[in-house]
Amino acid sequence: MSGVPQSNPQAAAQKTFYLETFGCQMNVHDSEKVVGTLLQEGYRQVETVEAADLVLYNTCSIRDKAEQKVFNRLSDYKKYTAQGKTFGVLGCVAQQEGEKIFERAPYVSLVCGSASYRKLPEMLRQLENAQLESAQSRNTTTEAAAPPFAVFEGWESMLPTSRDSSVGTAGKSAVKPSSRKPIADSLIRITGLDDRETDACFETEFTARTNPHRGYITIIEGCDKFCAYCVVPYTRGKERSRTSQSVLAEARQMADLGYTEIQLLGQNVNSYKDSEGKPGLRKSFAELLAAVGEVPGIRRVRFMTSHPRDFGRDIVEAIDAVPTLCDHVHLPVQSGSTRMLDAMQRLYTREQYLERIAWMKAAKREISITTDVIVGFPGETESDFVETLDLLEEVGYDAVFAFKYSPRPNTPSLKLEDAIPDEEKAHRLDLLMAKQREIQIARYKKYIGTRCEVMVEGKNEARSQYMGRTSHNKTLNFTAPPTATPKPGTYAPVVVTSSFPNSLLGELVV
Ligand code: SAM
Ligand code: SF4
Repeated sequence: MSGVPQSNPQAAAQKTFYLETFGCQMNVHDSEKVVGTLLQEGYRQVETVEAADLVLYNTCSIRDKAEQKVFNRLSDYKKYTAQGKTFGVLGCVAQQEGEKIFERAPYVSLVCGSASYRKLPEMLRQLENAQLESAQSRNTTTEAAAPPFAVFEGWESMLPTSRDSSVGTAGKSAVKPSSRKPIADSLIRITGLDDRETDACFETEFTARTNPHRGYITIIEGCDKFCAYCVVPYTRGKERSRTSQSVLAEARQMADLGYTEIQLLGQNVNSYKDSEGKPGLRKSFAELLAAVGEVPGIRRVRFMTSHPRDFGRDIVEAIDAVPTLCDHVHLPVQSGSTRMLDAMQRLYTREQYLERIAWMKAAKREISITTDVIVGFPGETESDFVETLDLLEEVGYDAVFAFKYSPRPNTPSLKLEDAIPDEEKAHRLDLLMAKQREIQIARYKKYIGTRCEVMVEGKNEARSQYMGRTSHNKTLNFTAPPTATPKPGTYAPVVVTSSFPNSLLGELVV
């Protein structure tokens, strides 16, 4: 079931939670599923830390800045522990730092990586039981000798694996499954950290989607690519796909609830592997994409993220064949230099990447192409960087998400020499963004005078403008006569009248 499930009314008055999410769409959607799970367990969601009994952070560790934000937040909120609040850290920082979080923030009670989310209901119940036990042992003087317990849960495999051996402390422990050990400081500690080798996905019928018109569906979790700079394979675990049957069932349920736009999510959607049915009849990613696009009621389907190595021509053919598939592909390149791509372990060359761009440019509809770039990867020379600038020009991207290389724990690139000083990284980032701005100004200008269909996202009252999004994933703000009041979630024809580097402006066609 999609939509916000009802919480258990009896318990709702007692247990409240606050959840803050950091990071990418995957995290945003994980949080929607975590919220649904908590509501189902009888919790009630509140808007502030002050009003909550349980405070959760769903964290991101893709770059150092994101990780620091979480620890800053935790130290800000330390004062609330005196009010008996319980703190939990979920997601990538939880998985990466593991039990070290308890050393840094001793008032945290729950640490859970995303691969263990399907065990959340069990962990929440253990948390409550341990809290009850702890309160009872404090109140029962005759049982004063019995210390409060820490409860450890979620250890599926006791043996360190090859993956574990490369991830530092988070994946290893000598603690037996469900073992409980007395601790001196009366703190309750529950962990879900040892599921990165699982084949199971976090599937729940209780997803509390925040937008009633467009929603995410995760089709693949984890990642097996091990790019040299990236924490994701260590934090989200091994790659595992949902069955096409389960994805399509969720898409149909969403359509029944009135959703018209679906975004399929995964770190690398192109390596989707269906396990449903006989081998010859299993759906490829392109076939799944087309099947979601054909669900009655669905008007737009997006997908994110594609890895160039696994990006096949069949995806472009699906976009050509199925009108509901949006004409936008996010294809992260990371660098325009084959030498750097090799150092990054990206498994493709500049030429192979450009071949995929050529497939898209030959499509029947114009496909908008966006990308991610990392500047200042160890050993990146001026000439490597110039190759990236040239590639931006050659492809003509509609948007670029550019990042300074951030050394991350446990990743192979930590050992590489020739680190680039931060000022140089910042300089290259500025040059790259300036170049991309020029490219975007020219690309957006081309839309002036064209007619686009937008999904209405809301209204900016101060500007008397409606906000819309095109199938190309561009923001198209527009004005409308007072007699027309386009509602959020509806689709409207708009003619583009002017352009900016990151958005378009237009008028509703009446
Ligand atoms: N799976 C996607 C792919 O293969 O492109 C991207 C996942 S990652 C969450 C999003 C982006 O963060 C990457 O494309 C990359 O540009 C950036 N990124 C990842 N690790 C980084 C690091 N250590 N430093 C800087 N940027 C990084
Ligand atoms: Fe990270 Fe590479 Fe996997 Fe993307 S494909 S999540 S960049 S390891």
